[in-house]
Amino acid sequence: MERCPSCRGEKVVPIEVVTSQGIGYGLRPQGCGTSRAGFAPREPFASCLSCGLVWSHLDPAVLRAYIDEHGLELARQHIEELDGGPFRDLPDTDVGHWIGAAISEIDALVRAGSSAAVRRYRELRGVTWDQAIRETRDWSGLTRGEKLELFGWVPKKKPALDDFDAPFP
Ligand SMILES: [Zn+2]
Repeated sequence: MERCPSCRGEKVVPIEVVTSQGIGYGLRPQGCGTSRAGFAPREPFASCLSCGLVWSHLDPAVLRAYIDEHGLELARQHIEELDGGPFRDLPDTDVGHWIGAAISEIDALVRAGSSAAVRRYRELRGVTWDQAIRETRDWSGLTRGEKLELFGWVPKKKPALDDFDAPFP
C-alpha cells in the first residue's frame, strides 16, 4: 500500500491533472521556454488526504536530459549549481565564495520571479538603479562567464603563446 512520502499517511487518492483541453498533461521544468511540450511523468499523480501533498515520479535521466537540451542558461546553471555548488568554478577564497554566493542569490530570486532581484543586485554590486536594471534585464539568458565578469571575476585565460619564452633565439 502506498503511503504519503511526507506525513506517512495511508489515505492516498489518485489525482488527474485537468487542463483546458481536458484530462492530460505534460510536465516542463521551469526555464525551458514556454512553447515546448513537456513530458509525461512515469506514474500518475497521487495525493494525501491527511496533509494534501501531491506527488508523482519522473524518470530522472529524462528530466536531466530535457533541461540539458531545452533549458535556458538559468535552468542549466541551476543544475550545475546543484551538482557542483555555487563556488564550483571559483577559487576557494573569501572573494571566490562571496562572488559565488552573490550570483547564487540573484539566480534564486530570478528563478522565483521575485522583483527583489534588481534591488539585491544593486546592493551587492553597489551600482545605480539604472545600471542594476540594465544588467539584470536578461539575467535568465546570461552565461555563467558573463555573470562572473559582472562581479569582477575574469577567469584566468590559458596562457597565449606570446607568454612563453621563445624556445629558440
Ligand atoms: Zn501526507
